[in-house]
Amino acid sequence: MAQAPRILKTKVGIIGGGPAGLMLSHLLSKVGIENIVVEKNDHETIRNTHRAGILEAQAVTMLTESGVDGRVLTHGDEHAGIDLRFNGESHPLDFRELVDATVTLYAQNEVFVDLAAARSRDGGDVRFNCEVNEILDVETSTPKFRFTNAEGELFEVQADVIVGADGSRSFARRQMPDAVKQDFKVTYPFAWFGILTEAPKSAPELIYANSPHGFALISQRSETVQRMYFQCDPNENVDNWSEDRIWSELQKRVDGPDGFELKTGPIFDKTVLGFRSFVRQPLSHGRMFLIGDAGHTVPPTGAKGLNLAFAEVKVLFEALDSYFSTGSDKLLGGYSDLALKRVWKAQNFFYWMTSMLHTPVNADPFMAQRALGELDTVTSSRYGQQYLAESYTGWPHA
Ligand SMILES: Cc1cc2nc3c(=O)[nH]c(=O)nc-3n(C[C@H](O)[C@H](O)[C@H](O)COP(=O)(O)OP(=O)(O)OC[C@H]3O[C@@H](n4cnc5c(N)ncnc54)[C@H](O)[C@@H]3O)c2cc1C
Repeated sequence: MAQAPRILKTKVGIIGGGPAGLMLSHLLSKVGIENIVVEKNDHETIRNTHRAGILEAQAVTMLTESGVDGRVLTHGDEHAGIDLRFNGESHPLDFRELVDATVTLYAQNEVFVDLAAARSRDGGDVRFNCEVNEILDVETSTPKFRFTNAEGELFEVQADVIVGADGSRSFARRQMPDAVKQDFKVTYPFAWFGILTEAPKSAPELIYANSPHGFALISQRSETVQRMYFQCDPNENVDNWSEDRIWSELQKRVDGPDGFELKTGPIFDKTVLGFRSFVRQPLSHGRMFLIGDAGHTVPPTGAKGLNLAFAEVKVLFEALDSYFSTGSDKLLGGYSDLALKRVWKAQNFFYWMTSMLHTPVNADPFMAQRALGELDTVTSSRYGQQYLAESYTGWPHA
């Protein structure tokens, strides 16, 4: 006989304990809206997964003003610009001067650690090692999902609202019927080869380099750990790349008459990151709402993924707060349209930055020169620089 699930009742059932799910849970608990977060992985696994690193100022404010933690201010590294490098020359953009804004380098692992600690400190109900494998009745006023814990026990969360915050391979997203959904996707013909290295900073600001050998990003993690990427084939095998070969490839892409040289060190993480854009429309169905990577994937040029997730958390939190305090579902009804506006702006910004900075495989010389013309246009115009600075540091939250 099938095992009868143990019933857990709450107001908001959240699937996924990444940054989006935990931040929403934190904000809801602050205003007394009961919620349960169910996360497939254990704390250690998520803490040790290297992903995003660039936070818009508004994401930083969400962490500090909502009382998650101020560690982002003490351990994060505020950056007031980037360097666009092409034709072997540096073109610094000063975000503070251009649009009075900055970004902060603070690894997603640290954001996760802070959020998980805040949920634990505040008595939040976050269940790690528990995988959701069934979602029921989202078209009714009593949606539910079921999950199994590490001991194999079955639970059913009965809620007023279900939130899919379960990342790019979202189980929640797959439960939406074909008749209501539309998917937009593009797969790009290149990827990023990413490394983490124990080395000093090569430069004070992030360098986005267009070179005849392809794109490179030189970014920083701390005084002693650096993150760097270079454009590669999506099928590239990291095992074919020795440290010497990686450093020579990266150096080639930032070489120039100014003699700029990367500071090297032991490499302790190598990964190939495929480029795929994806958007699900709408971001809600019945009483189920999608936030963060569950609803979209934006490849990392432009660093929008985690920032979009936080922007959506804010919009959905306000809609849920209004719903539970007034009974009106007007804001919930507008969630998807409002969130999607920012998603498409982010997709466009990613696409624009990528096409301007990357050299396509077997690039037509005309296209490669056109991209250089575009970089020249942007860097030699204050309006162009401001457009990039405004998009990079983040449009105002809705
Ligand atoms: C290499 C890399 C670099 C990046 N750089 C940047 C950057 O600089 N700036 C930026 O803003 N973004 C960046 N991103 C994107 C960013 O990491 C994501 O957008 C961000 O993780 C989205 O958060 P999320 O909470 O929506 O999803 P996730 O972090 O993926 O969290 C989803 C969670 O749901 C859980 N889950 C999945 N299925 C289930 C299930 N069935 N039951 C229970 N739990 C489940 C998963 O285990 C996971 O913990 C980068 C991504 C990568 C891969």
